[in-house]
Amino acid sequence: ALAALSMVVAFGACGSSRSRGASSGGDASQITVGISMPEQQLERWKLDGTNLKKQLEGYGYKVILQYADGKTDQQSSQIQNMANQGAKYLVIASIDSNATGTAAEQAQQNGATIIAYDRLIMNTKAVDYYTTFSLTEVGKLQGEYIVNKLGLKEGKKGPFNVELMSGSPTDNNAKYYYQGAWSVLGKYFKAGILKSKSGKVPQSVDKWQSIGIDNWDRQKGQAEMENRINSYYNDGTHLDAVLAPNDAIALGTVNAVESAGWKYYPIITGQDAEKANVRSIHEGKQSMTVYKDTRILAKTTAQLIKDLVEKKKPRTNSTFDNNTKKVPSELLTPVSVDKNNLKKELVDSGYISAKDAGL
Ligand code: BGC
Repeated sequence: ALAALSMVVAFGACGSSRSRGASSGGDASQITVGISMPEQQLERWKLDGTNLKKQLEGYGYKVILQYADGKTDQQSSQIQNMANQGAKYLVIASIDSNATGTAAEQAQQNGATIIAYDRLIMNTKAVDYYTTFSLTEVGKLQGEYIVNKLGLKEGKKGPFNVELMSGSPTDNNAKYYYQGAWSVLGKYFKAGILKSKSGKVPQSVDKWQSIGIDNWDRQKGQAEMENRINSYYNDGTHLDAVLAPNDAIALGTVNAVESAGWKYYPIITGQDAEKANVRSIHEGKQSMTVYKDTRILAKTTAQLIKDLVEKKKPRTNSTFDNNTKKVPSELLTPVSVDKNNLKKELVDSGYISAKDAGL
């Protein structure tokens, strides 16, 4: 009788999870999601990781979150471990877009669905979905900011001195970012209205890696700008603008300008709305940043996984070619932020506190 009772209890439990399963595609607590983030130097990846974990746990899934310390080997073995631990979904923000493919392929063979997060995984079939912010749009917003601030649309002819940098040569994002920026700035360079005294202007847009900063690293960006300033601008030549691809490199650029002892800051762009940079914008050092609300990216990605768990077709608004396949993608819209809309976009929306913004 006892055995029969426990059977009933067992069936009861099973039945209730099944009935949930009818709408949710299974017992949520049986689903493990692995999240592989590149590093923790930038605030953004910490926010991405915690937001994603919170969101997915909210759906009842088990979550393993790992950071790879900027090391590609470490990231590959973390991905493999998560797949071995039974992760059915893997969210991967690659350190090196070309190096993650092998680990993703093994995970996929283990039955995992692979979602490339923010950065696409290149040259492999082992990527099922991609969620990110429009990559070219980030570059366009920065380019347009420079063009507007210099008054080029009103017909100012300069010539103005602009120094260009791009992101990590190993990051597919950096390529599209630069394409976006060049789509705005290119014609002014060709017309001689914009110039780079350093001559560091890629001959064609596909040569963008020649101005790439390894790992989007602040110190490397700073060293690069110190070099250019010392070699080309310390005779009093005015530097009008710096295309700094993200906030880390923008911070390096501000440091380089300050150590040159200049009485002014050039127009300096950025990306990510990191706290220190938002303060820098408020203080009139960095000019702008491109805000990509990591809360929305996390939410979009978690929803995509929930749809897959529930056997619904996830929402995508685009496809992205990774040289092997066209990956269904959801591209979100980034926002240009400077001192004028900083409070509205970042503080009032709760992305960062007034105190952190220095307000
Ligand atoms: C991301 C940027 C970030 C950069 C450095 C890029 O792939 O899209 O938001 O600043 O990597 O981590």
